[in-house]
Amino acid sequence: MLKSSAFIEINTEHLKHNVQILSSLLPSKCKLMAVVKANAYGHGDAIISHQLHKLGIDTFAVANLAEGIHLRESGITGDILILGYTLPKEASTLAHYALTQTIIDSSYAKELNSYQIPLKVHIKLDTGMHRLGESYHHFDNIKDFFQLPNLQITGTFSHLCMADSPFAEDVAFTQRQISHFLETTHWMTKNHYNPGKIHIQGSYGILNYPDIPCDYARPGIALYGAFSCGNDRLHSKINLKPVLSLKARIASIRQICAGETVGYGRAYHATNPTTIATVTLGYADGLPRNFSNEENYVLVHGKMAPIIGRICMDQFMIDITGIDEVHTGDIITIIGSDGTQRILAESIADHCGTITNELLCRLGERPDRVILASA
Ligand SMILES: *Cc1c(COP(=O)(O)O)cnc(C)c1O
Repeated sequence: MLKSSAFIEINTEHLKHNVQILSSLLPSKCKLMAVVKANAYGHGDAIISHQLHKLGIDTFAVANLAEGIHLRESGITGDILILGYTLPKEASTLAHYALTQTIIDSSYAKELNSYQIPLKVHIKLDTGMHRLGESYHHFDNIKDFFQLPNLQITGTFSHLCMADSPFAEDVAFTQRQISHFLETTHWMTKNHYNPGKIHIQGSYGILNYPDIPCDYARPGIALYGAFSCGNDRLHSKINLKPVLSLKARIASIRQICAGETVGYGRAYHATNPTTIATVTLGYADGLPRNFSNEENYVLVHGKMAPIIGRICMDQFMIDITGIDEVHTGDIITIIGSDGTQRILAESIADHCGTITNELLCRLGERPDRVILASA
């Protein structure tokens, strides 16, 4: 049963294409750890993780404990790394669900160890982002992690904060982050502190610094076939294919006269007789309210229909004047292709002054997630 009249279509062929293209950029021993946090960037974490499992991926990353539990309860069996903070007193929950926890600094490691529950952990090293992680040059603290009897260290990682930038200064910063990371993991190995699996690249790390000798790379946004912004797609040689389409239906069609207005605040004024339609999706579903603008459009029967008036919580209105044979119940495309036209998530994100990462992960729970039968 479809519970909603709006839906998100998942194109598994495109997911497969993105997995293959990202894997092909990396050294052969480097595997993908799929980042499926925030409901797999709005795509549906259970659906996406199961599809990725079929494609041979068995390692996943989430942001927090709840997301890890959700994956386990959805039947995901591989390794699941929690990238963020988990309350140390939840150690038994981590163990119960066989989740791997990130050691976010040295006091956290001691506290987590103190619960006397054997846990798998990855050490996070701070190489310059200054968000989470033990400083890469605090060798004494790093050494101490290996003395904590309840923590089994199965990996060591860091995160790049400028990997998307082409500017020389930013490239130099990123290269310093990478060297710091590799130097510390080498130091660990040399001194018999086994770092386990090492990883540092997210999507832009893979795209711009593919040759780092790591065991894993952690793509999020690229896996879903999106660049963070439209400009990056324009300048990339890599053809990522969007996994997600966002669709809704026409709820009602009416004619308005010249001089009449549409929606809250009477924001749209018709200058001509206009045929308008109301669509079953709104900002509660994640379409930003500041996407309200007549320059923005959706696709109806392969044609561009401008958004008119303000986007409401559950609905918005479009101008379908001149588009033939439109009926209530018809499907409209907000993100995705219809006929020869395509609307990319990048274009909506660019218009709304954000990045696709935010746009996609804010898509709400209401739309059904459906798998597009492969062509
Ligand atoms: C979110 C996240 C990623 C994935 O980032 P993308 O830019 O979407 O590929 C990788 N690593 C960490 C630590 C993250 O928080």
